[in-house]
Amino acid sequence: MKQEEKEPDSSQSSPPSPTESCPPAAEPAITVQVDWRHPNVCAPVECSGEHSSPAVKHGDHLDYHVGHAHHHRHGDHCDLHGCC
Ligand SMILES: [Zn+2]
Ligand SMILES: [Zn+2]
Ligand SMILES: [Zn+2]
Ligand SMILES: [Zn+2]
Repeated sequence: MKQEEKEPDSSQSSPPSPTESCPPAAEPAITVQVDWRHPNVCAPVECSGEHSSPAVKHGDHLDYHVGHAHHHRHGDHCDLHGCC
């Protein structure tokens, strides 16, 4: 006597795919105001050119974090726009 085992018919239900709309990381999360500690001036500073991201929003422009310094690309040099 044969006993046939019936496999449970598992209905394939597609799992809900997470459709999270991730906004592009264009806007830096850090925003600093222009003040005496973070002046918006032309103060050329030595820079290796390696700017890590994310950048820092500084007033109406973007600065870069280089160590604890805020660098602002200005022509062929970098301006020092304060420190953390
Ligand atoms: Zn400059
Ligand atoms: Zn720089
Ligand atoms: Zn700046
Ligand atoms: Zn900073």
